[in-house]
Amino acid sequence: MGIDEKVEPIYKEVLDRNPGEVEFHQAVREVLESLGPVLVKHPEFADHKIIERICEPERQIIFRVPWVDDKGNVQINRGFRVEFNSALGPYKGGMRFHPSVYLGIIKFLGFEQIFKNALTGLPIGGGKGGSDFDPKGKSDAEVMRFCQSFMTELYRHIGEHTDVPAGDIGVGGREIGYLFGQYKRITNRWEAGVLTGKGLDWGGSLVRTEATGYGATFFVDEMLKVRNDSFEGKTCVVSGSGNVSIYTMEKIAQLGGKTVACSDSNGYIYDEKGIDIELVKQIKEIERRRIKVYANTYKHAKYISGGNIWEVPCQVAMPSATQNEINGKDAKELVKNGCIAVGEGANMPTTPEGVKVFLDANIAYGPGKAANAGGVATSALEMQQNACRDSWTFDYTEKRLQDIMRNIHSTCYETAEEYGAPGNYVTGANVAGFIKVANAMVAFGVI
Ligand code: NDP
Repeated sequence: MGIDEKVEPIYKEVLDRNPGEVEFHQAVREVLESLGPVLVKHPEFADHKIIERICEPERQIIFRVPWVDDKGNVQINRGFRVEFNSALGPYKGGMRFHPSVYLGIIKFLGFEQIFKNALTGLPIGGGKGGSDFDPKGKSDAEVMRFCQSFMTELYRHIGEHTDVPAGDIGVGGREIGYLFGQYKRITNRWEAGVLTGKGLDWGGSLVRTEATGYGATFFVDEMLKVRNDSFEGKTCVVSGSGNVSIYTMEKIAQLGGKTVACSDSNGYIYDEKGIDIELVKQIKEIERRRIKVYANTYKHAKYISGGNIWEVPCQVAMPSATQNEINGKDAKELVKNGCIAVGEGANMPTTPEGVKVFLDANIAYGPGKAANAGGVATSALEMQQNACRDSWTFDYTEKRLQDIMRNIHSTCYETAEEYGAPGNYVTGANVAGFIKVANAMVAFGVI
């Protein structure tokens, strides 16, 4: 895939203006590669310099986060919030706490979020935030003090009509609780709509915890249906063992598939009988331990320390850990071993070389910005419930999620056909998401 000659100078400008932010460059390139034909049909987007404007965040906030650890030592981390695009609604996107976080990671995630959120059809703009803080190995009290310090700066930038953060890697229910508590304390406002992923007793939505994994699995199910196939009897591999991974495995099992491997950053578990999801929940959500302890309970299961999970043969692969976890070689191995569908629960988990392998092999490939949009979509449903001080049942909310994922799938599928790339969900997602945001930006004038 190449970039159209009209778009190439814009990409070059992005590289020059954002040196060293390699993940951001990769995310921009992937979208820009799809946009040549869009400018032919919509010359007004070039006249209004929409692509140039969309690549420049509306606002970027970087701040110091000082906190005191359990030994009384002062620690300093860096906090980020990139408010990328508010054409369709308040900035919306999670926060990532991981030592690898720097501006380039937050910008790649924020950029992807613009198009993902547009695809949901709900009124949300795109943003992302986080910190290089590592929650691993920290006590609850340390995590609390960090979150309180983080919010002491962030609170002035967010609000239910302005910017609504949520979770991502390293930010789950515990962290959202501490962040919400500090926001409430500083502002003296019980403003449910300021954060999503809240606890069920205080404004959270049923299905939000499950939403990204369930949604990604629904998306793959739709791709399989187009090919007159289903999850029934399929062997699946799901990387990671965090929020997205766990609920992907759960929905795969409900749809008749069997997940035989999951992982963390140290290695992977192979269980030919099918991963026991309740045990993974116990280990990860309650005990906060490493995935290797799974093999202590099931002697037939193998833990492969430092192993590459993509060497495990499967028919459906659902990368649900982190960016660039499948490279070209991994993708070839997956295809060679009989993989027919890939659904990205994680954001940008496949390198450009890997994406090319999947597209060339003509397997069903659902890119993250379409496949994992169920998380943010259910966050928007949480905002709807907060706005009318209501709470919906699990079944009703899950049905809404499933309908949204079906719509995203058909939008991507039909847009790919319209733009001469049938079956290419990358083109479909990029083009459909972009056009929606671009139309709004044209309507607003030069702002
Ligand atoms: P969690 O923190 O709950 O879990 C992350 C999992 O991925 C852990 O098993 C972690 O292992 C593994 N992981 C993280 N970083 C790396 C790494 N550098 N190398 C190998 N493994 C790694 O995060 P989520 O499940 O929430 O997020 C997973 C992915 O899904 C991310 O890409 C995120 O952006 C994306 N996503 C999440 C959404 C959500 O609603 N939560 C919504 C849409 C996308 P370890 O414990 O060893 O670090």
